[in-house]
Amino acid sequence: MTSMTSTPVAVSGALVNGSTNIPASPAAFARRSGSFAVSPWDAVMRLWERHPDPVFFGNGAPAAELMPKARLQEAAAAVWANPANLELGYGGVRGFAPLRELIAARMASQGVTVSPDAILLTNGSQQGIDLIARLMLDPGDIVVVEGPAYIGALQVFDACEAEYLVAPVDAEGIDIDALEAALIAAPRPPKILYTVPTFQNPTGVTLSLARRHALLEVAHRHGLLVVEDDPYGELRYAGEPVPPLRALDPDVVYLGTFSKTIAPGLRVGWLISPPAFQESLTNAREVSDIHGDRMTTQIIYHTAVDFLDGHLEGARASYRARRDVLAAALAAEMPSGVTWTAPDGGFFLWLDLPPNLNAAALLNTAADAGVIYLPGDLFYPGYTATGAGARNGLRLSFSSLDEATIRKGITRLGAVFRHEG
Ligand code: PMP
Repeated sequence: MTSMTSTPVAVSGALVNGSTNIPASPAAFARRSGSFAVSPWDAVMRLWERHPDPVFFGNGAPAAELMPKARLQEAAAAVWANPANLELGYGGVRGFAPLRELIAARMASQGVTVSPDAILLTNGSQQGIDLIARLMLDPGDIVVVEGPAYIGALQVFDACEAEYLVAPVDAEGIDIDALEAALIAAPRPPKILYTVPTFQNPTGVTLSLARRHALLEVAHRHGLLVVEDDPYGELRYAGEPVPPLRALDPDVVYLGTFSKTIAPGLRVGWLISPPAFQESLTNAREVSDIHGDRMTTQIIYHTAVDFLDGHLEGARASYRARRDVLAAALAAEMPSGVTWTAPDGGFFLWLDLPPNLNAAALLNTAADAGVIYLPGDLFYPGYTATGAGARNGLRLSFSSLDEATIRKGITRLGAVFRHEG
């Protein structure tokens, strides 16, 4: 390499008289990069500066004490100690076979029949959303999302320059009649319907069995690929289990993850797709990052095997207790006109405010009073627009907060809403 010499050399126009032709300004960024310019989290994180000890209801992660650290340490030590495990070259794109076998067995217990060969390990379900979006979406293609929807999925679809149809969600999940009406009115046939049908992020609601069947029927009739994102399905702590959409229809793309059941920092999830998609999705994964971390997938396998079910029993009880404390605190503190969902699992609860309270407008006041929530606007396409009406809600995540902190936060929030109401 002679790049440290002072003589500028023009190589394919890269260096001209010591300066470069490399576009130096964001004006030269690709059109799709508009969606990378603002992170919804930046504004939220700035709210922390407004109070010395805020209660943050925005964290959609497991409680730190429910991440099985000792088990992970043992698994990591065992994996790294055994020379036979040290496969440190490149590997197969789909990832560590015993983990895919374990996932296939876990999926079978939920009614999903899938061969381990049909499972693609991913760096979390976020990557699964990204891969399916890359495979399916040209700029201007229409995606059906829930109203409200998971922020990270909107970010992926934005990056693909997608357009949106928003299907409203009520206490039973997507409103199928509204979905059908929106599909009929759509300017072009949408390609994908992205849904979190079980303990939805952000509302916590679950699509009922009757609506699952209805949704699949509508999707088939309109030629929609259903993408089922299911990070929370194994975290049911009340009510009767409902089968995943993928158990009812093998044409569904299913995304799973260990982020909520073990820990998000290890970045291990999986993708199950219909046979016609598998080769292209595997190749798309290879193009993106070749394959996942071979050691981490082994660590997740050795952590999960003969352990995860017992661990989840304790985790569910803990999340149920947190939900109950939150619901009781809301009942005690919220002014009349405020309503909220009753999740049977997962990490989130959604509050709907009466028209005289605006979730986005009150965010700073709440942060000054020491409580931070995620305003409803964030969960709709084009989140920078100020919300109104249907968007006048907010998400409360209770998974990582202890019971005393939940009570403290809701006492603060109740005071803000009563004062403003
Ligand atoms: N989908 C949904 C609905 C989520 O709530 C999350 C995490 N907040 C993700 C995907 C991303 O999860 P992962 O860590 O598996 O990428």
